[in-house]
Amino acid sequence: MTSSKNFKKNLTYSDVYNCPVCRHGEISAIPLMEAFACNFCRHIFTANLEKQLLKMADSQIPLTWRWDGQNWRGMQRQGFEVGWFYWIAGMAFVMIPPTIVGVGAYLFPPLPSDPLFWFPFVWTPLTFLCHLACLLWLVVEYYQFPVLMYLGAITQRLWIR
Ligand SMILES: [Zn+2]
Repeated sequence: MTSSKNFKKNLTYSDVYNCPVCRHGEISAIPLMEAFACNFCRHIFTANLEKQLLKMADSQIPLTWRWDGQNWRGMQRQGFEVGWFYWIAGMAFVMIPPTIVGVGAYLFPPLPSDPLFWFPFVWTPLTFLCHLACLLWLVVEYYQFPVLMYLGAITQRLWIR
């Protein structure tokens, strides 16, 4: 494969591309079929060469990528931009609840003799982590990054070794 940065190529069945799912393997056309397959994660893709689109064929989730000549771009949902407002709302969603819990525990600390004295020290970080996980899940969903498939491909590779 040519590693030149400025080299652009179109999506065709005669070429080899890096896999948009595992980002480890390479996808190439399956002989006698208008489809691509990855040599690492074994996923199968169908392509729309006119629109330079690649669609995962063996998945329930409608994952689609557009080839920009050098890289795969996850297809954004039409007519919806992630603006600064969403990032601020996301940060507030992650930061405000643990702050409330933490400030509450700081202003009204439990008695050291209380059997649940440790509770605020666990609950505050747990609140933070749970809200962060919700936000990350939304980001992953929005950008269509197939986390589970990626992890599956990595584990598969470790097992094969
Ligand atoms: Zn792959």
